Order: sequence, then C-alpha cells, then structure tokens
Amino acid sequence: MTLSRSLKGSIALVTGAGSGMGKATAEILAAEGAHVAVTDYDAASAQAVADGITAAGGSAVAWAFDVSDKDRIKAVVAEVAERFGGLDIVINNAGISAFCPIDDEDHYDLIWDRAVNVLLTSHQRIIRAALPHLRRSKAARIVNIASTEALGATNRDSPYAAAKAGVTGLTRALAVELGREGITVNCICPGPIHTGMTSNVPDADKQTFAKRRTAMGRYGAPEEVAHMTVSLCLPAASYITGVTIPVDGGLMARNA
Ligand code: NAP
Repeated sequence: MTLSRSLKGSIALVTGAGSGMGKATAEILAAEGAHVAVTDYDAASAQAVADGITAAGGSAVAWAFDVSDKDRIKAVVAEVAERFGGLDIVINNAGISAFCPIDDEDHYDLIWDRAVNVLLTSHQRIIRAALPHLRRSKAARIVNIASTEALGATNRDSPYAAAKAGVTGLTRALAVELGREGITVNCICPGPIHTGMTSNVPDADKQTFAKRRTAMGRYGAPEEVAHMTVSLCLPAASYITGVTIPVDGGLMARNA
C-alpha cells in the first residue's frame, strides 16, 4: 500500500488563522502545497497572513469570518469551495479565553454562552456546512483544536473547560459517524503555547508555570502544534480517527 504524504492541491479552511496556531497551521499547509482559506474574525489579520503566504509563493485567500455567526458559516464555506473548487480539510481553530468563577451571577451565563458558541457550536456548524464538499474529497480531514483544559482544568475556567471537553466528545462522535465514508475527525489539545491568547501572562509567570508543570520546562511555539495538526491532514493519515492528542510539552504526563 502506498500512501501519499503530499498536500499539493488540497483545499483547506482554517478558522482563527489571523494569529497564533491558526496562522502557523495556514502557513505550513500552504508550504506543503495546499490552497488555504485563511479565515479570521479580524479581516486585516487574515489578509496579512494570506498576503504573507502568497508572497512566499503559496496559495491563499483571506475571509473575514466570525465563527459564531450562523449564516456567515454557510456563506464562507460555500465561497471557499466555489473559489478553490472543493474542500478537503477543515481546521476548527478559532478560540477565545472564557474564565469566570461559578458564583459570578453577573457574568457567568454570558461568558458560558459565548464560550460554547465560539468554541464548540461553531465546530459542528462548520463541519455540517463543509460535509457535502468533504464527501466529494479523496482525503477528507477534520481537525478540531481543543485544549489540555478539556483533560484537566484550571481554577475558574469552567466555561472554557466545558466547551473544550465538548470538542473532544464531538470529535469522537463524528469520527464514528463519518468513518465509513473515509472522513477522519481528530482533536488536538494544546498545552501552554506562546500566542495572542497567552500574551497577557507575564513572562516570569509563564516560566514558573512551565518549569513546575510541563516535562519540557517551557511554553511551546505555535508551529510545534501546527505541525501535528498538519500531520493529521495528510492523505497518509487515513487510519487515524477519533483521537485526542495532547501537544503540551508533557503537561498531562507530569504528576510532580
Ligand atoms: P490566538 O493567537 O488568540 O488566535 C485565536 C484566533 O481566533 C485569533 O486570530 C482570533 O481573532 C480568532 N477568533 C477569536 N474569536 C473568533 C471568532 N468568533 N471567529 C473567528 N475567529 C475568532 O490564540 P491561539 O492560542 O492561537 O488559539 C488557537 C486555538 O488554540 C484556540 O481554540 C484556543 O482555545 C486553543 N488553545 C490555545 C492555547 C494556548 O496556550 N495558546 C492552549 C490550548 C488551546 P482576533 O485576534 O481578531 O480576536
């Protein structure tokens, strides 16, 4: 059996690709020869990433795309498929922080609803919109970005942790449902990574945390997660489905 490790000509949609891990994933996919729909809430950052990919000789188009906008999901997926002539790969990556103490009556419901909407509901909606196109692909791949917060939680992070745990459940259920069609659905749980989301954590606190909690003793770089994401998108990754992979420098492996 010969399996391809080439993404040349594959068509990929990445959400939250204007920065951090989404940007790194879009750039690596493009470097591997994929056509990439660089989508982000922020039009300017999506455009800057797409311009950078194009300048480097890759193929990318930017879309302004709020993943919590139900109608926009259908429109963007249809536009991407129309523009590139199909869709093979969906990376559900867009995300926000959602800390809130359980007894904060003024804010909890609001933060919960936003977390579930952006971090979980968007995944199923984007997958449902993409499905007709993925069904026509020879190597359909879905990668959902969750978090180590789905596997163990930080104090006062319950809206985020619950939504991310939902992503792992959605991944398993859809892997089972779509497996017979050859569509793989997998999930990555990043640990502490240097991105916009963690930019407000002071460097000294990052170092203290990483030394105390991870095996590697440091925060990760967005590219260290993105390479795993892209690996799950290869045609050769055809028998990997329903898995949740921590990319966390050994955070989940470490007890003491
Ligand atoms: P990031 O640099 O902040 O990137 C997240 C991107 O998502 C941003 O470009 C952001 O756009 C975009 N976004 C936010 N809300 C959106 C929406 N409603 N629609 C479309 N795009 C939206 O953070 P990141 O760390 O790379 O995050 C990527 C994923 O990894 C997220 O799902 C996050 O939960 C997860 N994660 C991160 C870490 C970590 O340590 N960094 C750890 C575990 C999991 P704007 O900047 O314009 O808001």
